[in-house]
Formats: sequence, C-alpha cells, structure tokens
Amino acid sequence: ATKKLDHAPVMIGVAADSGCGKSTFLRRVLGALGTDVKPGHTAIGDMLTVICLDDYHINDRAGRKATGQSALDARENDFALMGAQIEALKQGKAVYKPIYNHDTGFKDPPELIEPNKVFVVEGLHPIYDTKARSQLDMSLYIDIVNEVKFAWKVKRDVAERGWTEEQVQADIQKRLPDFAAYVDPQKADADVILRYEPSDQGLPYLKVKLIQKKGGPFPMITLKKELTLTGSKSGATLKQYDMDWMGSPATVVEMDGEIDMDNMDKQVEEIEANIVGLAGSPNELRDAMVKLKTSPGSQNGTGLLQAVIAMKIREVYDKLTGR
Ligand code: ADP
Repeated sequence: ATKKLDHAPVMIGVAADSGCGKSTFLRRVLGALGTDVKPGHTAIGDMLTVICLDDYHINDRAGRKATGQSALDARENDFALMGAQIEALKQGKAVYKPIYNHDTGFKDPPELIEPNKVFVVEGLHPIYDTKARSQLDMSLYIDIVNEVKFAWKVKRDVAERGWTEEQVQADIQKRLPDFAAYVDPQKADADVILRYEPSDQGLPYLKVKLIQKKGGPFPMITLKKELTLTGSKSGATLKQYDMDWMGSPATVVEMDGEIDMDNMDKQVEEIEANIVGLAGSPNELRDAMVKLKTSPGSQNGTGLLQAVIAMKIREVYDKLTGR
C-alpha cells in the first residue's frame, strides 16, 4: 500500500562491518519503536523500511573473485545508483532496488520499495559517498575495536564453521586493509558512534561508549552522576565525560561491565532514572530492555545503549516531523 506522506521521509544511516550485530540492533530499534509504544509517542515500527546497502554490490561473489576486490572496496559498490535511489526515497518516490542474495552470492530480481516515513539505510558504506550521506538526517557508526571483533568472530566461526583460531585471524587480517580504507574512516563523519572496547576487566566483558558529537542532529543524553551497579560477576560502571572524537568535540556516556540479569528490571530502572535527556515515557528504557532480555548484548552496554539510540531515532523523527 502506498502511504500518503505529510512530511519528507526521515533517513537514518547505520554503518558497520558485516556480522557485527546490525540485525540485532535493528531488532532493538523495532522493539523500542514497535506497535506497543506508550500514548503520546509515535510508533514508527510499521512505518520504517530498512534498506541494506549490500544490495548495491556491483558484482556477485563469482564476479568479485574475477576482479580480486572485496565487497568492502568502494569500486565494488554502485554508489551512483545508491545515491540516486536514496535521494528518490527521500523525495517520497518509490524505487526498484536491486537485491544481493547472501545465500546464493547472486543478484535476485529487483524489488519495489514504496515510499515510507522512516528509512534506515544500513551497511558498509552509508556515510562513505557524499551523495548518499547528504540525504541522511542522522548517521550512526558501530565501531567495534579489532580485539572485540576477533573474539566474537572466533567464538562464532570456531563453533559454527569448525574454523581454527588461526584461520579466523587470517580472515580478519585479509579484510583489514579494505576495512581501514573504505569503512572505518566513516566514523569520523558519523553524528553518533557506538564503540565496543574490551572492559577494564578484560574480555569477554565490554566497555561500550556512546560518543555523541556536540551540536549535531543526535539529541544528546547525559548522566546525573557516575553510577556503580553490583550483583553480576563484573559489576557495571556508568560514567560521562567530554572528549575530542577525530577532531570533533563529543560527550561520551560509557558503560563498562554487565548488569545483574536476575535483577535486570531494577538495575535498568536505576540507570534510566540517572539519564538526563532520554525523552521517553517513564520506565520506557527498562521495558524495552526487559522485552528483549534474551537478545544478544542485553546484559551489557551494547544492548542498553542500542535501546537508547532506538529511542533517540524516534525523538529525531518527532522533531523533524514537528510532533
Ligand atoms: P549482522 O546483521 O551485522 O550480520 P547479527 O545481528 O546477525 O549481525 O549478529 C551477528 C552475530 O553477533 C550473531 O551471532 C549475534 O548473536 C551476535 N551479536 C549481535 N549483537 C551482539 C552483542 N551486542 N553482543 C554479543 N553478540 C552479539
């Protein structure tokens, strides 16, 4: 069905390496913004379309074997078509978007993307090319430091594919130059960066930073005070500070460690009460977290700060559409 739009669609860019939890993040966005949102807030779950930029890969897998270039390489992505289609969607037009099928490694027939109120444009390069970037109302970069990426990939590929640690390491090393050249630099231009580092207590615990650029479109959160939670093995600490992020002044809210999952509702409630600028309804963050309790990362800052970002996407939508 074609939706009648009373405002320009809101475009949100989400950049990250593949296999780093974008689908999990998007489930959290939909979970927080879905159908059961409190009165007075907009449920945007059913008016949101996700555009996966892998669909703009020029070659299929066999084609890339022939060119010898990785999918991370700018030359393997049709930025002209991507930019034109994102611009068309921003203007409220429908487009026939190509489809890259990950299972077969081939292109499927294009699909019709209808106008919608919110588009999440996710993939390796939403902020790379100026044409696509200029259509975005807000951009997020999910920045997973190599040590964390390696630990996650080892866990997955050793368990699921029977790889050795050396094979996983070699695979990461092989992708690293293109990742560094074409994907990682986008984090300088993102409006908000969600960064996963090893915890001060070491892996598998994480220190997760919400790096909010000052004066940008991301509506900032701050903390009333530093917070320490106990009860889990690592415990959790939340703090806030200013830093220079690749030349831009930023305010960081950081969570190190894990919450006590037996006491999740109380602890998230305490965190939520300590956040300034969340712009949600009472206990909304707690309820969103409890609802997705079994999703990956719910115990640490990845899940918590993803849920915060989800609420912020709605806030941006409400601001831009004058609600
Ligand atoms: P992508 O869509 O980027 O390929 P997925 O969301 O499918 O990534 O996640 C890839 C893998 O990483 C899955 O096995 C998932 O369980 C795991 N994962 C995702 N998010 C997290 C997280 N916050 N913490 C730990 N593991 C996660």
